[in-house]
Amino acid sequence: MPTIYGEITGIRKSIINRLEELYEFSIPFGQVISSELSQKLIDLTIELNREVVVYISRKGQITCVAVGDVYTVVLPEIDGRRSINRLSGIRCIHTHPSGETELSGVDVASLKEMRFDLMAALGRKDGVIQASFGIITGIENDRFNTQNVGPLSLEEFIELDITYLTAQIERQLDLNTKTSAIVEVERALLVGLERQGKWAIVDSLKELAQLAETAGAEVLGMTWQKRDRPDSALFIGRGKVQEISLLRQEKNANLIIFDDELSPAQQRNLERALGIKVLDRTALILDIFAQRARSHEGKLQVELAQLRYNLPRLGGQGLVLSRLGGGIGTRGPGETKLEVDRRRIRDRVSDITRQIEHIKKQRNLHRKRRENTRIPTIALVGYTNAGKSTLLNKLTASEVLAEDKLFATLDPTTRHIILPNGQQALLTDTVGFIQKLPHQLIAAFRATLEEVVQADILLHVVDASHPQYQEQSHAVFQVLHELNADTKQLITIFNKADKIEDQDIVSMLLKTENSVMISALHGDGIKELLILVENFIKQQTIDMHLLIPYNDSGIIAKLYDISNVHSTEYREDGIYVIISLPPDQLNYFNRYAIGVEPE
Ligand code: GDP
Ligand code: MG
Repeated sequence: MPTIYGEITGIRKSIINRLEELYEFSIPFGQVISSELSQKLIDLTIELNREVVVYISRKGQITCVAVGDVYTVVLPEIDGRRSINRLSGIRCIHTHPSGETELSGVDVASLKEMRFDLMAALGRKDGVIQASFGIITGIENDRFNTQNVGPLSLEEFIELDITYLTAQIERQLDLNTKTSAIVEVERALLVGLERQGKWAIVDSLKELAQLAETAGAEVLGMTWQKRDRPDSALFIGRGKVQEISLLRQEKNANLIIFDDELSPAQQRNLERALGIKVLDRTALILDIFAQRARSHEGKLQVELAQLRYNLPRLGGQGLVLSRLGGGIGTRGPGETKLEVDRRRIRDRVSDITRQIEHIKKQRNLHRKRRENTRIPTIALVGYTNAGKSTLLNKLTASEVLAEDKLFATLDPTTRHIILPNGQQALLTDTVGFIQKLPHQLIAAFRATLEEVVQADILLHVVDASHPQYQEQSHAVFQVLHELNADTKQLITIFNKADKIEDQDIVSMLLKTENSVMISALHGDGIKELLILVENFIKQQTIDMHLLIPYNDSGIIAKLYDISNVHSTEYREDGIYVIISLPPDQLNYFNRYAIGVEPE
């Protein structure tokens, strides 16, 4: 005779019978619950106005039915309690009479306590059944981390592949317990695809290795495959996957990073085939950005890019392995964990979008104010690690973070400089560019790179000692082109002259128009550079909007002498003129500047 556990006193016999009938259900393999069982649970809950709880084994059998608060239910001894890196093999599905499915603190506590495969709450609201669930995602200092997902529709919940999910969780627990004594290091293997006309694959993988190390992973090795087109299911060929699987065991790797962006399906398939976390270049770069964003806006932009990247990777098959546990790909800006719930991601996306809009409006206001007193602006651009921050420091004697890491600079830093001839200018350092820049980041980049788009002059810093300096320059121009900034006045700065021994290379490089060779580190060539900048500024003309009061109208004649007058308009409060003029005249006319016309 099956037993109903919990608070059953006072429950009618007919309902007890119906509760007992629940034991007859069996859930198909891999499925979390059936819709029929869900329906029955909800119906009983409404009649009883109490929680109804079922415990389901991995075989799909109902091992226990209970009524009342989950935590007060005395669980029958769960068979063969297993070691710390194993879940109990039982999932707990219960109902909330209120219809709200959000897991309570008690629900989450018993999830951890009992090490359930999954803890779910069902509820019916306005006639619609929904579900939320919690899972253990890892273990840290002997304590379980959990994640809550939902509310989902019943259909979405039923789609969850529970077998796959529990296998992933146990793998994660395995990893956590094996490495918990030491600080958990991600040990990565890198995989690339060699295609025609692309960068040499080895160089691309070397750069990927540097990115991985910047993100805190240890690189154990790299491998690649020659292929014209990626495989639609696995990105690489089946044989190659097997080879990587062996290599992974041999090297004891716990992470595979692909050099290109994987589709969500490819990522999922590879994780299933290889059994460990699989990431792509995009996730890696996003992770580095997340760790390095400093300004409020930078953080928001990066989080937005990460959420947009993650959203399609949380399909009906549940969470992919790379979303579990921790480490690269799960960290948000400021060490917060990234949201894994689709609905909450969508809410967060619209919330961030609103905040960014607001910041943009404010920035435009600031820029208009700054334009009232215009000073020529110069932006440093260049491939990541070229030496931009070092140069900015040299030029301004300030201490902008310069490190031998990719993307040390994320937010634009602007400094005031005075050139030898007394001319003032604003110098902005920017984030480095990189090949295969994730498209999700172009938007985030746009914000930091608006300074580039607005600049009067660009200084393109090239690491002339880098074997791939030409490809790197090319990647920079590609981004400038996307920003519509490739027609701006540009000085090419060949940096790290101290590392170049061959004088022929130096003279070859200097054939480039408007170029200079420097060592930002040691200061060689800085004087020449400044003179070049001065000359550039002299040739520049700067657009200004002026409002000249009628009693100063004598100025107008002078304006025609020294500047290019585009338009004049007589208004109540004065004469409104748009001019372009040489920067050394700026100071005099700044007093009349009104910035750009308000829209
Ligand atoms: P950014 O990413 O372009 O801002 O590059 P950083 O300014 O952070 O510099 C990257 C690395 O290159 C740092 O380790 C610098 O010390 C180094 N570096 C920069 N300029 C020079 C140089 O002229 N010579 C040498 N040898 N190293 C340099
Ligand atoms: Mg920098």
